[in-house]
Amino acid sequence: MPSTVSSMTVGHLDAAEAGKVYLVGAGPGDPGLMTRRALELIAAADAILYDRLIPAGALDGARPEAELRYVGKRPGAPSLTQEEINALLIEQARTGRSTVRLKGGDPFVFGRGGEEAQALAGVGVPFEVVPGVTSGVAAPAYAGVAVTHRDDASAVALVTGHEDPTKPESVLDWEALAAFPGTLVLYMGVGRLAQIAERLVASGRSAEEPVAVVERGTLPRQRTVSGRLSDIARRVQEAGVRAPAITVVGPVARLREEIAWFERRPLFGLTVAVTRARAQASGLSSRLRALGAEVVEAPAIRIVPRPSGGGEIAAAADRIGEYALVCVTSPNGAELLLEALAAAGRDARALAGITVAAIGPGTARVLSARGVNPDVVPERSIAEALVEALADLEVEGRKVLVARAAEARDLLPDALSERGARVEVLALYDTLPEPLGPETLTALAAADYVTFTASSTVDHLTRALDAAGAPFPARARVVSIGPVTSATARERGLEVAVEADRHDIDGLLDALQADVRELSPP
Ligand code: SAH
Repeated sequence: MPSTVSSMTVGHLDAAEAGKVYLVGAGPGDPGLMTRRALELIAAADAILYDRLIPAGALDGARPEAELRYVGKRPGAPSLTQEEINALLIEQARTGRSTVRLKGGDPFVFGRGGEEAQALAGVGVPFEVVPGVTSGVAAPAYAGVAVTHRDDASAVALVTGHEDPTKPESVLDWEALAAFPGTLVLYMGVGRLAQIAERLVASGRSAEEPVAVVERGTLPRQRTVSGRLSDIARRVQEAGVRAPAITVVGPVARLREEIAWFERRPLFGLTVAVTRARAQASGLSSRLRALGAEVVEAPAIRIVPRPSGGGEIAAAADRIGEYALVCVTSPNGAELLLEALAAAGRDARALAGITVAAIGPGTARVLSARGVNPDVVPERSIAEALVEALADLEVEGRKVLVARAAEARDLLPDALSERGARVEVLALYDTLPEPLGPETLTALAAADYVTFTASSTVDHLTRALDAAGAPFPARARVVSIGPVTSATARERGLEVAVEADRHDIDGLLDALQADVRELSPP
């Protein structure tokens, strides 16, 4: 079935047929290079049999009840043979399950997908093949190497480097490969690079031929080593390059000097920790990734909405028309307030005639997206700025609602009460500590930057580290969204290296990039 917009929205049985096996390519590692069809089938499958080289998070979209099974090699443990994997696929299909066989790159390029398809066809099990972006083209592309080029290469050969070229039984014709009029792309060859390079030169390829070796292509830790056939093995060994790596042999390898792009992004090579609650982290994380950073999500905090039915929240939603001013002090608060209104059978019209104040642009955006353009939005997202922005509003004797987290500073309600307002604080959610797992702690220890978007994230992270007996990441520079967060960080003994001028995500990203530029001038 072709992938169409409508087929993506239908139930899982329509997307992946029972009793069918899907041989699916997961691309070279960057999750963004997975195809739509791959994601659709992962979301629909009853069972997923996967290999080692699949992108991080590739299985996140699987159904909770799907069986996920690793069938790749495991160091020190017996791995399944190809025959066992074939048998397993047949067995899954025969029990009527829809089965995704997920492989790195493309299933038919050195992925043994051809053998699996043969085994399935041989016993009459229906199957489909979903091609993937192959690492032999994608890793060079991310390194700034076009495997074909009008001037330099009109052909490209995909070659396994797994074979020992010095062995007489090698199935590869190295003389023919040396004479091949185009680019050679070698998979699985880093360990044998010295023999391969020697063999190519001995068979007539120029020792001066440019070569690029791309390690962990398309991933945040991609690394490229360039050289010539005569010296690439030494350079790769000196750099300690390991699998997975792709080797490109040919004049196109030099293109990199002109068109490398991935490794030149502003935050490339840096590890940045995001300490917001998981539900909120994704926006900041994806912005950081787009700038080239490797992101560690270390949410030491979790947002738990308070139940809106029946209680204080429902009552406030019912009586919303009584307030002269409604202040919303966080994007979460905005979202939950509007949800509470919806739960009470109301919509944005219930706020007609009421002055709506948002603490900053992030909160304002959430409100606007739901049809409420706030009347008051200070540029700096802090309570002090909101108090100032509301200075001219007549609040004496009037009812004011402050919609926010349960744990928050009382600066705003206090300031409004002082001016004679009848302030009600509505706690829409709690921010609860979340312990950090061992993997997160390890990843966090390697952070170059730790970002804090609120005082609560400082409190929770430092507490979680204390609880785990782990020190604050040794070489990490602290990035704070603004003065209040910075003060909390200093109270907790942290040195703040970067403070945003504008107290929102854009401001934080700008400040972080400025710091990177300052530390490593071009
Ligand atoms: N079917 C896969 C290839 C599997 S063979 C594909 O189409 O890409 C495994 C080899 O692929 C590795 O030894 C390495 O040479 C290459 N490879 C896979 N992922 C890679 C990556 N992210 N960067 C560089 N090489 C990669």
